[in-house]
Amino acid sequence: MRPWKLWLAKATNRLTYPRISVKITLFYAAILCIVLLVTSAITGAGVYFSFYHQAEIEMEISMHNTLERVAMGQLFDADFWQDDPLLPGVVFRVTDISGRVILENDAHYPSIERVERHLRANPPLFANPRMGVADIRNMSIYYAKVQILQQGQIYELHFFKTITAEKEFLRELLWVLFITNIIGFLIALAAGFFVSRRILNPIRILTRLTRRMAVERMNRRIPVPRGRQDELTELAENFNRMLERLQGAFQQQQQFVSDASHELRTPVTVILGYSDLLSRWGRQDPEILDEGISSIRSEAEGMQQLIEKLLFLARADQKRQVLHMERLEFSELVADVMKKMKLVAKEHEVELLQNDEGNIYCDPVAIRQMMRIFLENSQKYTPKGGRIYVLSRREGAFFHLVLGDTGIGIAPENQKKVFERFYRVDSSRTKAEGGVGGTGLGLSIARWIAEQHDIEITLKSDLGKGTEIHLHIPMAGEKTSAGMRGNDEGDEKLEEVFF
Ligand code: ATP
Ligand code: MG
Repeated sequence: MRPWKLWLAKATNRLTYPRISVKITLFYAAILCIVLLVTSAITGAGVYFSFYHQAEIEMEISMHNTLERVAMGQLFDADFWQDDPLLPGVVFRVTDISGRVILENDAHYPSIERVERHLRANPPLFANPRMGVADIRNMSIYYAKVQILQQGQIYELHFFKTITAEKEFLRELLWVLFITNIIGFLIALAAGFFVSRRILNPIRILTRLTRRMAVERMNRRIPVPRGRQDELTELAENFNRMLERLQGAFQQQQQFVSDASHELRTPVTVILGYSDLLSRWGRQDPEILDEGISSIRSEAEGMQQLIEKLLFLARADQKRQVLHMERLEFSELVADVMKKMKLVAKEHEVELLQNDEGNIYCDPVAIRQMMRIFLENSQKYTPKGGRIYVLSRREGAFFHLVLGDTGIGIAPENQKKVFERFYRVDSSRTKAEGGVGGTGLGLSIARWIAEQHDIEITLKSDLGKGTEIHLHIPMAGEKTSAGMRGNDEGDEKLEEVFF
């Protein structure tokens, strides 16, 4: 696209979807503008009304006083002006029926004809209907006329009041208000724009950062100013926390993939080695043939187990590992697992010391798997002739299940790590080298199963003496019934929509 077209498209987009800072600025400027306009209109109208009204009142009083005198027949008395019935600024004239001026207090005032000629067609709305307003050049005059009968003759009394100064003041006031409004609006626009930009600055940093964010650069964080605590710092902090979690999960994922590939490499190398051996010597030597086939099989079995475990953990991570929960008699499950264990671990002394009765709410397949993981470890890491013992005791609303052995034990510094994926205390020694085989995934699977059942695990171990796994398994409540667990649980549905 051409640069100007791009610019135009961008500008159109900006106009259609203005930035939040622009929206806030315009919104507040518009509100301020409305407030200013309303206040100015009220002030202007108030002043306008009060000036006209003031002039009207002065005219009314003057007219009233004059008509009182006229009623007393004093119009042509010599002392009519002595005690002036007119208020200051009111001009008075008397004309006879032919329009000739008989009496007046200001000869320089514009003539009656001139005033009448310039009378406004539409006087102000609120003005007294008995009066008119005439505009002569820059001058404005309030004008009223009354007919009277005096000494059998008809006369006309004319009253005038100049309101030019008031009008001028009003005009200037309106100008001042208008300019103040414009300046106020401009200041509101500038201040609003400046303030909203400052307030929204963290959001801009956030946007810039997310734009530049890539998987390889996940260690970046939004700078959060110290001592400030508002919605935006909260957003930035939460965003940083989310990054922290994502980074952790991502690193764990990478570690998982690299560990898994590493674990798979050894058996594949062994299989390749044996297949080479077989292709070279296997045909002639039946002994090598037997050894090769059984080793390849054993390595393949190991790989199969590893893949099964990896798949289990992957499903667990993706929350796709479904558990079929049901209520069952725990003692029966323990007895069954131990019966099978006795058959398998012939070289050890396997004992079930105590097996209390009671119900638990669980996925029986998963719980059996978890117990098998612990018992297989006991079997693997206990020398021949050693003891493997199990004890299930009711303690309040829990079963206290102990799975112990008199094996090699785990050093204190390794006790936390054994639950990590792929962690093995003696990882250098494989089965083929005289050690015990394993993937290092058993305990992580057991821990996941325990977490899903709200089971608390405690490991107690003495190096060279033995290991005990203590499980606190909640018993089933009265109302618990069968159900599924694991699919989408824990996933919050985000239904809120931005803007
Ligand atoms: P697998 O995935 O086949 O079970 P693994 O047994 O090596 O392999 P985990 O069950 O996760 O893996 O155990 C991790 C490590 O913890 C083991 O390699 C072992 O060193 C140590 N461990 C576990 N249980 C015991 C035990 N009862 N006695 C001594 N060491 C143990
Ligand atoms: Mg194990």
